[in-house]
Amino acid sequence: MAEAAEKQTLGFQTEVSKLLHLMVHSLYSNKEIFMRELISNASDAVDKLRFQSLADDSLMKGDTDLKIRIEFDKDANTLTITDNGIGMSRDEIVEHLGTIAKSGTSQFLDSLTGDQQKDSQMIGQFGVGFYSAFIVAKEVEVYSRKAGEGADAGVLWVSEGEGEFTIENVERADRGTSVVIHLKEDETEFADGFRLRNIIRKYSDHISLPVEMLKEETPSMPPMDGAADEADSDSDKEEEADKAPEFEVINKATALWTRSRSDISDEEYKEFYKHISHDFEEPATWSHNRVEGKLEYNSLLFIPKRAPFDMFNRDTPKGLKLYVQRVFIMDEAEQFLPSYLRFVKGVLDSNDLPLNVSREILQGNKSVDSMKSALTKRILDMLSKLAKKDEEAYQSLWTEFGQVLKEGPGEDFANKEKIAKLLRFATTAGEGEEQKGTLENYVSKMKEGQNKIYYITGESYNAAANSPHMEVFRKKGIEVLLMIDRIDEWMMSYLTEFDGKQFENVSKGELDLGELTDSNEKEEKEKLEKDSEDLIGRIKDALSDKVQEVRVTTRLTDSPACLVIGAHDMGAQMAQIMKAAGQAVPDSKPTLEINPGHPIVEKMKDEIQDDRFKDLALVVFDQASLAEGSQLDDPSAYVQRINKLLLEMSS
Ligand code: ADP
Ligand code: MG
Repeated sequence: MAEAAEKQTLGFQTEVSKLLHLMVHSLYSNKEIFMRELISNASDAVDKLRFQSLADDSLMKGDTDLKIRIEFDKDANTLTITDNGIGMSRDEIVEHLGTIAKSGTSQFLDSLTGDQQKDSQMIGQFGVGFYSAFIVAKEVEVYSRKAGEGADAGVLWVSEGEGEFTIENVERADRGTSVVIHLKEDETEFADGFRLRNIIRKYSDHISLPVEMLKEETPSMPPMDGAADEADSDSDKEEEADKAPEFEVINKATALWTRSRSDISDEEYKEFYKHISHDFEEPATWSHNRVEGKLEYNSLLFIPKRAPFDMFNRDTPKGLKLYVQRVFIMDEAEQFLPSYLRFVKGVLDSNDLPLNVSREILQGNKSVDSMKSALTKRILDMLSKLAKKDEEAYQSLWTEFGQVLKEGPGEDFANKEKIAKLLRFATTAGEGEEQKGTLENYVSKMKEGQNKIYYITGESYNAAANSPHMEVFRKKGIEVLLMIDRIDEWMMSYLTEFDGKQFENVSKGELDLGELTDSNEKEEKEKLEKDSEDLIGRIKDALSDKVQEVRVTTRLTDSPACLVIGAHDMGAQMAQIMKAAGQAVPDSKPTLEINPGHPIVEKMKDEIQDDRFKDLALVVFDQASLAEGSQLDDPSAYVQRINKLLLEMSS
């Protein structure tokens, strides 16, 4: 053990050094958050001790009065945060304070822009943690002793936050951790009782643990001069000799969610949200509830304003903070939220679950399932309430979380209709990509005789909005939803109807406008079909290896042709998702629909030369692909054909 007891100098993991540097420089305007982080670590450490002592009560021995103590020394310009929580061993301290275990750290660092304003936002989301001490510290000492170990198991970690730290064994009388911050010369404001009391109240009123400071009689009164001063300091000395220093509790020290809603201010809710989420910004909305009856629990749920940078990363932490009878059990209990609501933060405190509950027990537990379904409803209601109250605020949430909410219809059958009401889409009636509306709004504007909700999926807003498939809808003034997110086609395979109306993808299957077609149009189409029989046969021959079928269209007014996929075939978006996931995509050929009234198609009718006819047919086919934003199989063959036609035209 002699070797381990020696003083060692170790380097931070590269990511830590980078993060430290960034933090010190970009969080300068929000310095005091280091207190939030250190208090939160101290409170986590006590929570962990409380939890572990359920299985081994010897861990608490000698000191069951759990608390955080904050001291400062104006002369030395130091600030010390002490907890009697779980503590750290030598190995643990090296690991926890020398590396960042979070997944996606390098990805996070790569995503920083160099723009301080933006980056400090991002760092806030990432959770700066312990290292934030270096925003105000020129040196940090961490003394720690793990619960259950003796006084000789103390460790001291010291760093100036510049690439290195030292670690050595020291004697430590008490269990837990003390973080001693040697403040930078210009950060003396944090070695001040009045300022600290304010910060502590702000950041820890809502945690159940008492946070103490040394009692100060009249902290804001300057010392008097002359004889009185002398006399005072005499009596001070006497007191010091007689009594141990007296501490007082600064915070409210009750878990926020156990208090009654009417006693909690918005400010307190917002601070609590920041405490559990490490977010710098306020939450968009929250919901606090106590449930009594068959199941008893408290829940406090928050919707953040912004999505985490890694929302689509599988390993991104998600889930609620779980307490059982006010005892902290675990972070990131995922079992209480469906995956499509994984951006929600909050606390769940159950009276029914056993204290020794584990992730395995949570899996498939009946009460967990019913809490999950109640919480899900609550969140959906919270979102729809926000949308009713402030659609603009909701739309900005939609921009952040819409992609995730769109997983809802596929995941949560029971709440499909509720989720559908939360969806927002650009439509052909809107002013552009940014203007999005609800399905309810779409339905309320449906034309007489229209009994379907029409939509198109596409690679981009322009590709969808200007697709040849839109022509007939434009002509008839029928609104079409423009679905341009990768996930849309997948989502729509689950969302088949809304408000009793079927959804119809306008680029799939035969277009049936039902009562929107009048009898004239029907007759006209029948006539066109008859007149075009010969032409259609020739195109079929020319494109036999590319298309499933060729037919006369009712969709087009301005374009010569368009491609239609079979009613049950996979669309381009879905095919791309499958391909990206390395899955085989079933081979299905599209149907080509032609517009016999178009001059190019009329020209084809007159073309007697077979190879020229074939060229024209291929060009029309390729153009139909291009018009919907697809890529051509053989772009250079297309260019050559076009060039040939251009040259023939000019000769
Ligand atoms: P986070 O709290 O998000 O895990 P931090 O950077 O704040 O990240 O802390 C890193 C780790 O250091 C913690 O997860 C914990 O294991 C350890 N740690 C920090 N402060 C303390 C403390 N006061 N007592 C015990 N462990 C601590
Ligand atoms: Mg922390």
